[in-house]
Amino acid sequence: MASGSSARRLRLSILSVFDPWNSPLCYCPIKYSLNPYTGCSFECIYCYATSYIGVKPSTPKKAASLRLERDIAKIPPGSIINIGTSSDPYPEVEENIGVTRRILERLIPEGFRILITTKGTLYAWRDLDLIASGNVAVTPTITGLDSNEVLRIVESGAPSQGERLSAAREASRAGVPIAVRIDPIIPYVNDDPHEIRELVSIVADLGARMIITSTFKARRDSLARIRRVMGPEGESIYRLYTRRGVWVHGYLYLPRDDREALLEPVVSEARKLGLEYATCREGLSGPEWFKAGSCDGSHLIPMRIRPRSGLAEWMEREA
Ligand code: SF4
Repeated sequence: MASGSSARRLRLSILSVFDPWNSPLCYCPIKYSLNPYTGCSFECIYCYATSYIGVKPSTPKKAASLRLERDIAKIPPGSIINIGTSSDPYPEVEENIGVTRRILERLIPEGFRILITTKGTLYAWRDLDLIASGNVAVTPTITGLDSNEVLRIVESGAPSQGERLSAAREASRAGVPIAVRIDPIIPYVNDDPHEIRELVSIVADLGARMIITSTFKARRDSLARIRRVMGPEGESIYRLYTRRGVWVHGYLYLPRDDREALLEPVVSEARKLGLEYATCREGLSGPEWFKAGSCDGSHLIPMRIRPRSGLAEWMEREA
């Protein structure tokens, strides 16, 4: 794997170094982001990506295959590629367009280590043959239970929580490692400890190996949207964040005690059920908050396919 600084020097097109800002709150291993789409039709109200590109429907990136071809020649064999870090790779249009499928068909035989982050379900119903044969782990985002009506407003464009759970169960049965992201936990929306514990228990039953969790960190636009769209809960969230929030690296964080209280039911239940767990970009360390081989689930990626060319040859080429 390239070091952080040499990875940042690569001139990439469709791939990008994950966390180019090098945030001290990010404990992810060096990896590359790949978003086959720009914009996201799921339109989660809390989405942070809209602060960069606005609210737009999922649109496939231009010349994705050609750009990918150039980029994969530049990165070390066997690199970790996280698909879907800022735009979901399985929006509804993917069923017809298949750009994510084509990308997987190119990357998997090369032996790249792939993490797929999604609220979609198509990966389990259409791409499971491919995914289960490669160095792939899936980190589905599942934020609550279908009985949570407020959550339904917040993620109204995405598949239901039950559909996401069924997809994760199917993938797990096929041998694909699953690390569920219960992320973000938003006060007044999905912070009920009973609901959280029930969700963690369902996630454990379906065969997931890890839970990744974090609290909602507001951007100016997401907070304004929450206030505008969500009614009384939106007003409560707006007041809470504007009164108690602290700006950290461009995001409004709740005070540490509040965040610990929100995350505690997730991690304590995961611990009780023997799952690995991690908190994401919270600045919380110690075994009560982090007990896993990696914070993003990348350690779960199986090595089913050896990278096609050796690291030594890559380094020689890059020297
Ligand atoms: S699925 Fe992810 S990228 Fe898409 S709107 Fe929701 S939070 Fe944003």
